[in-house]
Amino acid sequence: MEIKYVPSQIAKYNTMSYSSIHKKLENKKTIILDGGMGAELEKNGAKMDEKMWCGKCSVDHPELVRKIHEDYISAGADVITTNTYSTTPISMRQYGYEDSIEKFNKKSVQVAKEAIKNSSKDVALAGSVSTFGNFYKLGLKAMIPGFDEQLKILSGEGVDLIILEAMSSQADIVETMLNCSTKVNIPVWLSVSCVMDDQKNIMLGYNDTIDSDTHVYENFETSINNFKKLHSGPILVAHSDINITGKAIETAKKNYHGIVGAYPNKGYYEKPHWRFIDDMTPTGYLNEVRSWIKNGAQIIGGCCGIGVEEIKAISILKN
Ligand SMILES: [Zn+2]
Repeated sequence: MEIKYVPSQIAKYNTMSYSSIHKKLENKKTIILDGGMGAELEKNGAKMDEKMWCGKCSVDHPELVRKIHEDYISAGADVITTNTYSTTPISMRQYGYEDSIEKFNKKSVQVAKEAIKNSSKDVALAGSVSTFGNFYKLGLKAMIPGFDEQLKILSGEGVDLIILEAMSSQADIVETMLNCSTKVNIPVWLSVSCVMDDQKNIMLGYNDTIDSDTHVYENFETSINNFKKLHSGPILVAHSDINITGKAIETAKKNYHGIVGAYPNKGYYEKPHWRFIDDMTPTGYLNEVRSWIKNGAQIIGGCCGIGVEEIKAISILKN
């Protein structure tokens, strides 16, 4: 496809919440993100949908989604993320919810905003735009309207920033998302997942089911050098194994002069549930995070399996 080489980030720090995030990042401070939503919802008794995972909860159990947001804010998150990871227009059409795309995505923004309002804290709201659903089958051109639609709904509903959760995605899909994000007038953060190959190189790729093959795409170094032609906002290593995150941050820092951060996984996915592995305590996670911050990471949170307890533990690193 034709790639426009225009940096996506003519950032408009036009919300109070984002301007304080921006100021902290400029001053080399640490920003705490929230952790995963699906697993926390499950812990709180919400039912996961076989197809839409936790996406339906914003409409079926808005009080629970609001509670999880509130828990993350109490734990110290500076930025919380809308429960829209699995409500992409493409997945919703795929699963027969084509008439509810606006309703689900808007409701997710609304409950997150209510949580922020109830907290009376200066917390920014990130709108999650993802590749959940059958993106791969569509081809790049056919993905564009889906990205555009979700970006438009979330930014129109008043999120402070967009986080492109391009996790499990190949580089060309990430580039397509970045190009679409140039159309919204708010800051854009990019998150991608990484794996380590047999030669111990950090690669763009993923492996989140315990018995599946690892998907290995291109060298992460190559990806970053291409992404930065399109994007100048934060780049985050997300939905990746904690054990390789430190090295991925080093790779990102070496190749990118913008802000770098991470929100890794703990456990694995077994549709439609996230399975926990108790191999790391919140304090253990805090120790990992300390070393990442030392290596230049400025935005830290958690993805699947990292919950309120871990965010509470790492929020002591806010400065
Ligand atoms: Zn994840």
